[in-house]
Amino acid sequence: MRRDPSCIFCKIAAGRIASRKVFEDDELLAFHDIAPWAPVHFLIIPKQHIATMYDTGDEHAAMMGRMLALAPRLAHELGVVNGFRVVINTGPDGRQEVQHVHMHVMGGPRPWLRG
Ligand code: AMP
Ligand code: ZN
Repeated sequence: MRRDPSCIFCKIAAGRIASRKVFEDDELLAFHDIAPWAPVHFLIIPKQHIATMYDTGDEHAAMMGRMLALAPRLAHELGVVNGFRVVINTGPDGRQEVQHVHMHVMGGPRPWLRG
């Protein structure tokens, strides 16, 4: 498994930093965002270290597809039945703060704190 020892999401994927887990399998991990914008706000990440979406290619298409397919399923399991947003911030202009690909899934009743 490709990991970056200084990356916070790699540490979460390795279980070295605690998270509130929503889902886990061999390839993906989902956990609640530590600073939620919405009543439900979780992140879906690949367990392998991929810094940004710019670093993905055809070989990642199936995995990225699985991330997308998981979003509605996990949202529903968490009681989000009236809609949600999916966001992947990428690069400086995309305001990506953590350099490990992650998909935000935000939902729940309005109003939200942000977004
Ligand atoms: P981004 O701006 O897309 O890179 O967002 C990074 C997200 O990761 C932010 O929403 C943070 O609140 C969230 N985050 C940072 N550290 C942690 C952590 N240890 N556990 C859960 N979420 C985190
Ligand atoms: Zn990483």
